[in-house]
Amino acid sequence: MPESADLLIEGTIITMDPGRRVIRDGAVAVQGDRIVAVGAADDVRASHEAERTLGGKRRIVLPGLIDCHNHLAQALVREYALEDYPNIYRVYIPCEMAMDRHDADVSARFGISQLLRAGVTTVAETTCTLEHEEPIARAVMDTGIRCAMARGLGDRTSRLASNYAQIDERSSFEDNPGALREDLATTEAWLARWSSEGEGRLRPYIHNLGLPSCSDERFLATKELAAEHDTGVMCHISRDREEIELIFSLFGERPIEHLNTIGALDDRFLAIHAMLTTDREIRMLAEAGAAVAHAPIVCTDIVSAVTKVVSMRTAGVTVGLGCDTVINDLFKVMRIAFVMHGQSTGIPLYDPLAFSTEDAVTMATIDAARALRWDHEIGSLEVGKAADVVVVDAENTRLTPAYHPVGTLVRYAVGTDVESVLVAGRVVVEGGRVLTVDEPALLDEAERLGEKLGKVLGPRRYHPLPL
Ligand SMILES: [Zn+2]
Repeated sequence: MPESADLLIEGTIITMDPGRRVIRDGAVAVQGDRIVAVGAADDVRASHEAERTLGGKRRIVLPGLIDCHNHLAQALVREYALEDYPNIYRVYIPCEMAMDRHDADVSARFGISQLLRAGVTTVAETTCTLEHEEPIARAVMDTGIRCAMARGLGDRTSRLASNYAQIDERSSFEDNPGALREDLATTEAWLARWSSEGEGRLRPYIHNLGLPSCSDERFLATKELAAEHDTGVMCHISRDREEIELIFSLFGERPIEHLNTIGALDDRFLAIHAMLTTDREIRMLAEAGAAVAHAPIVCTDIVSAVTKVVSMRTAGVTVGLGCDTVINDLFKVMRIAFVMHGQSTGIPLYDPLAFSTEDAVTMATIDAARALRWDHEIGSLEVGKAADVVVVDAENTRLTPAYHPVGTLVRYAVGTDVESVLVAGRVVVEGGRVLTVDEPALLDEAERLGEKLGKVLGPRRYHPLPL
């Protein structure tokens, strides 16, 4: 007698399991929030009976995609920043500061809607503004997405004496132990609260803004706190030249070297960006078991270096892909990573396998899950794991025939090819429509907020917007 299941999902199954099986004419059975069978469609149908079926002929089924770095409060800034580089401190940060709780709610729902629609079932959110934390967490719970949500503010102010100013000035910093105590207490309460209230879908993490705004004491205290609560620490690091110069001028060493010196690196540390990372620092990350969140589009958006992803992965560093708000579509981000690392590493050495399409998918699924320390639950289609599943409609001349389904997705798919999305067994996208968001109402709100932000940010651009 076949066992009963809630749902069968049929198609070409890209499992991303340890054997990297791709099963043509396969099926996944889902019961409750779990995957209960994966295999040939005939076998799964024989072992499991369900009233409802998703997918079918010319459908590609893959694990829910995992975005390792995002700021949901910045979802409506992206075009104010476009082609006006570098822009983080001039455009993104002032935008966040101009937003109230309601704005953060609109922005978060907007970003989540883009992500779910494109098959992203897990987002790593790094919130930088205290009053945005609650609305973003609410939006996560309401929309049904899975979220590794990191909170935490800085406790250090620092000043970089620029190259020219160093004739008579030095870089400096000042720490604020009171702010550290207060923020650690807030973080501890956050970890305790969301470990239960998040229903296993919103997992709380710790955020350290970066070395320019975090003390050594903070890095060591958050490392301990993360171990106590079995979570991770996310930190923006080695992102731009000013940061490297500041840390070098204060400590005589580079950012990752400094964290290594003070003993702040471990396997709970997720380095965000790490673009300007040396081979010495890559070795330190690898030895500590630390991971990297790589958002390739941001390498160009802030005119920094191309992250040495191939060297990192070769050294044993786990690297996950991130959208970082700019393009909330991991199919496009995978393609950008494939082209970027093929060009920067593969082409100069005539090495077509320096960075493969499978590497790109690995970094958007199972390695992203590892980077977030969540791979026991998500990142692959395996029995016992959470039912986070994406169905791509390949009933078109772009995606069919697919002789190499992984390569086909990386080279040719876009987010809107996604037909259905499940998170923890719940169907949140069907027929290409996000079921948990009132999109027409959201568009009106987003336009209102976009206009408000435009008034704040338009004049801050180097080049006027072409309106
Ligand atoms: Zn960021």
